Amino acid sequence: MRRVWLAAALAAFPCLSAVAQSRIDYSKLEIRTTDLGHGVYYLGWQGGDSLILVGDDGVLLVDTSVAQMGDKIKAAIARVSDKPIRLVINTHAHADHFGSNELMAKGGAIIIGHETLRERMAKGQYLAAFKQTIPPSPPAALPAITYLETMTIHFDGETVQLFHAPRAHTDNDTLVYFKRANVIHASGTFGGDRSYPFFDISSGGSLAGMIRAEEEMLSLSDDRTRIIADEGDQGSREGLKAACEMLVTIRARVQKLLDEGKSEDQIVAEKPTRDLDAQWVPQGSPLTGDFFTRLAYQSLKNDRGPARP
Ligand SMILES: [Zn+2]
Repeated sequence: MRRVWLAAALAAFPCLSAVAQSRIDYSKLEIRTTDLGHGVYYLGWQGGDSLILVGDDGVLLVDTSVAQMGDKIKAAIARVSDKPIRLVINTHAHADHFGSNELMAKGGAIIIGHETLRERMAKGQYLAAFKQTIPPSPPAALPAITYLETMTIHFDGETVQLFHAPRAHTDNDTLVYFKRANVIHASGTFGGDRSYPFFDISSGGSLAGMIRAEEEMLSLSDDRTRIIADEGDQGSREGLKAACEMLVTIRARVQKLLDEGKSEDQIVAEKPTRDLDAQWVPQGSPLTGDFFTRLAYQSLKNDRGPARP
């Protein structure tokens, strides 16, 4: 019952839910392009938003949304660069982050992602959290280049660092750090500074991994860093710090109740997020305090997340 309840709540949540995606009329979506400096632009619409880096070497694109958005992404890129899309990075294997890979690859782009992302795309996935079946991707859509822990790309005069965030939003998240532009794409590991984040336990995500990913981004960033949240605009280091502290607080509270032997329903009834919900639950959001408490419980119950190296 519990799992059914989670899936029902998530039907309204944008990141990846097939139901939510089917409700979106992509033909009406407009891409907002924001110049973040040093050749980095944010392409924003409604979930699975992209970043691009443009310069003499060509275009590097982070995330390709769903298939219906491919031509719009290309058109938005063409408005700021006449160079070809040469490199694509997929941040994680949720369906709204790699859907236009094949289109980009057929145009000559080389796709890069974590090794586990490639495995998940090649096999196909059933995401229990969303009751969503994602069929195997065609070979052309798969990353040609994969990595395990870190990778550095020197392109357009920029240093682009890729960091694997183990067992965070999923088991295949890549944090993408544009060093000169001072911009980080957080994959799905940061929900912004006004919402509880979501992590997908059915794809190997965990609360401990989310905290670790946010700590990693805090160590990379300074007060001027722009951090791209999962489904929203650019966040700040201050917002990330607040989000990370909130996660650490909730983890400690839920773990304490777990250690006292309480059940999931008993823990939810204790409302361990009561004083936090006003700040972290936007009106109408399915990511309520009770929902996030269940997510935290399910993550902490069997698994304390990725081992520290
Ligand atoms: Zn996601």
